[in-house]
Amino acid sequence: MSNGNFYSTFEASVGRDPSAVVFELEDGRTVSRQWLHGQSGRYANALRELGCVAGDRVAVQLDKSAHVFALYLACLRAGLCYLPMNTAYKPAELAYLLQDAQPKAFFNDGESGEVADILPAATRPFSLGPKGEGTFAEAAAAASESFSTAGMREEDAAALLYTSGTTGRPKGAVLSHRALSYSARTLSDIWGFSSDDVLLHTLPIFHSHGLFIAFNVALASGARLLLRSKFDAANALRALSRSTVFMGVPTYYHRLLADPALSKDVCRSMRLFVSGSAPLSADVHREFEARTGHRILERYGSTEAMIICSNPLDGERRPGSVGLPIPGAELRIAGQSDEALPTGSIGVIQARGPGFFSEYWNKPDQTRAEFTADGYFRTGDLGRIDEEGYVTITGRAKDLIISGGYNVYPAEVEAVIDEMPSVRETAVVGGPHADFGECVVAFVIPADANRPPAAADVIQRVKSSLANYKVPKQVIVVDDLPRNTMGKVLKNELRASLLAASSGT
Ligand code: AMP
Repeated sequence: MSNGNFYSTFEASVGRDPSAVVFELEDGRTVSRQWLHGQSGRYANALRELGCVAGDRVAVQLDKSAHVFALYLACLRAGLCYLPMNTAYKPAELAYLLQDAQPKAFFNDGESGEVADILPAATRPFSLGPKGEGTFAEAAAAASESFSTAGMREEDAAALLYTSGTTGRPKGAVLSHRALSYSARTLSDIWGFSSDDVLLHTLPIFHSHGLFIAFNVALASGARLLLRSKFDAANALRALSRSTVFMGVPTYYHRLLADPALSKDVCRSMRLFVSGSAPLSADVHREFEARTGHRILERYGSTEAMIICSNPLDGERRPGSVGLPIPGAELRIAGQSDEALPTGSIGVIQARGPGFFSEYWNKPDQTRAEFTADGYFRTGDLGRIDEEGYVTITGRAKDLIISGGYNVYPAEVEAVIDEMPSVRETAVVGGPHADFGECVVAFVIPADANRPPAAADVIQRVKSSLANYKVPKQVIVVDDLPRNTMGKVLKNELRASLLAASSGT
């Protein structure tokens, strides 16, 4: 029987071409398949010798480096559950996750403050620097590179990822080897990946986008990764001329557009730009095409669902739409009682497929609550499907504004305001209103900070396109919007600021 371990996909490719390059690092050095295989074997042996057994969690709060990827693969090979942690998390946030996950080992750079106080009793701390230095290197020094990859069932846990938690406490989504393998193979296939591809990797790797989408797809297809520690527009523009694919969050595309160096010439070797993790405005889509000749391929997914929808590689890529369900995924728009709504209606997006998470770690009640009786996951997103199957996201269920009993979907109002040339980006939320309960409030970033749009013009613009109850009662011009590390606007912070202002605190 074949091994369900996701690592076996890569292992087979090492045998075929050991010297093939997996990473090209920032300083130009390259890392081969053989190195990654050997180093992950060494780390897997070290983890085993340190007492980690199948199913144990290994928490990792480290910046991107070839060694961290080797550690991730070591966990898969040894049957351990890899738990990446946001490098921006402060001890109080870490403490919650560590208590919840009870990992056997915790890795950081050894320089990020004292963690001893927050570690659970059974968790051993290690440091691992970008060149492989640190206390783990000492433990790994004597370990052999030769390691027999653990035989896993497809349903066995491979990773634990905490949802980014823009609302409420983070929950750990358990992802199986099947979820990783299916997603990597399917996306590699539908996005046309091959070993000729060079993927410019600027995303963080503590999130599904940078790790399971970008890295795993490259691993499954044999593509080379140009590793950059973080996104920087000028740096990315220099690397684009040697790349074929780029994956980013919408904020990256905004920043690329803001750089005058973005041109058709800079993108001459590129074949594909992918965007996800947050809504890409139709304006940015069009502007990017005008500047580069490329139509960004927008796709939609989440920590729990990996990827649900994608615009097609060949076929129409629609601005403002996240495309069609990927092969194997099923999606429906549901009403209050989980009933499927007719085409064109707005409702909650429910979906299922082989790439989905198995459960929330240690939270059987929440797992049950998030799945319907027939196994669909309640994504928490609102959307609609058109006649041709294209899906459009209209907001988060929790972002829904109810004003005077009428439902307002923020994305609809945002799209109208975003069309104004004087506006760069908009975030619409519900503010307190004595009469209506909630009212529509628009936070607007001007295209030109010296010439912000007048509130009256924004209001007029919405009035001319949408029903009165959707018209903002207030327009607040801001320099920037609060965001999480994936560029998602933290609407709860915007709502909190409105509440504080109304209560005079
Ligand atoms: P995360 O779990 O951090 O990946 O966040 C998942 C959420 O991001 C989804 O449930 C959506 O609300 C949002 N999201 C992801 N991709 C898109 C997209 N292309 N357009 C709009 N929202 C998106």
